[in-house]
Amino acid sequence: MQLNFSGLRALVTGAGKGIGRDTVKALHASGARVVAVSRTNADLVSLSKECPGIKPVCVDLGDWEATEKALGGVGPMDLLVNNAAVALMRPFLEVTKEDFDRSFSVNLRAVFQVSQIVARGMINRGVPGSIVNVSSMVAHVPFPSLAAYSSTKGAMTTLTKSMALELGPYKIRVNSVNPMVVLTAMGQKVSADPEFSRKLKERHPLKKFAEVEDVVNSILFLLSDRSASTSGSGILVDAGYLAS
Ligand code: NDP
Repeated sequence: MQLNFSGLRALVTGAGKGIGRDTVKALHASGARVVAVSRTNADLVSLSKECPGIKPVCVDLGDWEATEKALGGVGPMDLLVNNAAVALMRPFLEVTKEDFDRSFSVNLRAVFQVSQIVARGMINRGVPGSIVNVSSMVAHVPFPSLAAYSSTKGAMTTLTKSMALELGPYKIRVNSVNPMVVLTAMGQKVSADPEFSRKLKERHPLKKFAEVEDVVNSILFLLSDRSASTSGSGILVDAGYLAS
């Protein structure tokens, strides 16, 4: 999608791999100045080579204090993509306290924390902004062995609406994208069983999984002024799955 983000600053979490990485590349190519936040430094080093001029920040977003230290003084932002997440697969009856805490600290608590940092900066500067939370179709439909992960994404739906309500008066829009399976490292893990994967794909009216690019395009649309009157909403990137 050809959009112009020249002169705007964007922060993307989970920037090292998959959807976050391609979002950074697309924003960088569209003129934005990007802060790329991720956990594995090698990913950020290779991303910085591909996208000269981005600012890499290596931090575990599940660690509140480390995140505050790394991002507390990150500077002015106009756009935020809360994309980092972990999908810890375990049947509901076997989910541990550690699984639960890790899932919620990375997938939801960090969204609170990073959004607070970025939104406070926007409000202090009196500038409008757009925040996109990368959620999932599992916020709407269950998926086996993903109870903890799905719960974080269900909560994200409510958080997105709450943020839209409270930040709207400051002209900050907040929306989500909700993909079904996308064959990144995470997507390959959750659809690893070939028979399960085949049947799942078959249930999609479009008979396919979404591509990373499809998700990135929806993120860019929601970040941009093309969606100027959209807030508290979500775009399904599910090849029609919810209609099946
Ligand atoms: P990947 O696992 O491919 O990439 C996730 C990125 O987030 C990695 O760079 C990872 O770094 C980073 N990350 C994870 N945990 C942390 C952390 N604690 N601190 C900082 N960075 C972290 O995932 P996807 O690209 O597939 O997923 C991106 C988003 O899309 C997620 O929110 C996911 O829930 C959502 N989504 C994905 C779907 C799919 O099928 N792929 C479907 C629906 C939604 P590292 O590898 O170093 O840990």
